Amino acid sequence: MKCVIAIDGPAGAGKSTVAKLVAEKLGYTYIDTGAMYRAVAWKTLQHSKEATDEDILRAVQDIDVQLTCTESGTRVTVDNTDVTREIRTPEVTHIVSRVAALGPVREKMVELQRAMAADGAVVMDGRDIGTNVLPNADVKIFLTASVEERARRRYDEMKEKGYAVDFDELKQEIAARDKQDSERAISPLRQAEDAVLLDSTSLTIDEVAARIMKLSE
Ligand code: C5P
Repeated sequence: MKCVIAIDGPAGAGKSTVAKLVAEKLGYTYIDTGAMYRAVAWKTLQHSKEATDEDILRAVQDIDVQLTCTESGTRVTVDNTDVTREIRTPEVTHIVSRVAALGPVREKMVELQRAMAADGAVVMDGRDIGTNVLPNADVKIFLTASVEERARRRYDEMKEKGYAVDFDELKQEIAARDKQDSERAISPLRQAEDAVLLDSTSLTIDEVAARIMKLSE
């Protein structure tokens, strides 16, 4: 059986770590849709630090975003340039929610995402997968955690990558991104009616993955 698993939730809830693990265990393909919006944000910043709506729309027009699954994680290329690391910088994170709120950006990314999931056997994570991209997914999860815990996880992750980050600033950034993602007009972040709510605040990655595996049996 080729199954489609959709995992949505706010920033730092552990979606990508868990989605990767579940995909690995099931032999499925992991699709990180946040990386695609980050790719558009990165391309926009190459041409303009201001990143006006016009700049964003110009960047998305003929963008070629490719995700490749590798041993060390998802490799992301934009117009044949490897941007796997560059899309995780604070500059990209700072503008990505604004980029992702624009209709033409979403239309293009959603079309690509649906094509990637067409053959099944995928775990896709994002904000609108269960509600909009793949409404017929076999398993839908809404993964969340307290904002404090999510900020702590991102802080550890960024520090490990060598970024000098301030915990309170990070927490504010996450809360601002949650707000922007939940309040936008097109496909806002919300739990699908038929999604299972999982709060990972006091669960380990393996515990969350085990619950999702059980749901996909
Ligand atoms: O998952 P990640 O935090 O990398 O996503 C970056 C941003 O991309 C989110 O804050 C959100 O604005 C946008 N996004 C989205 N829809 C998705 C995935 C991500 O709007 N399906």
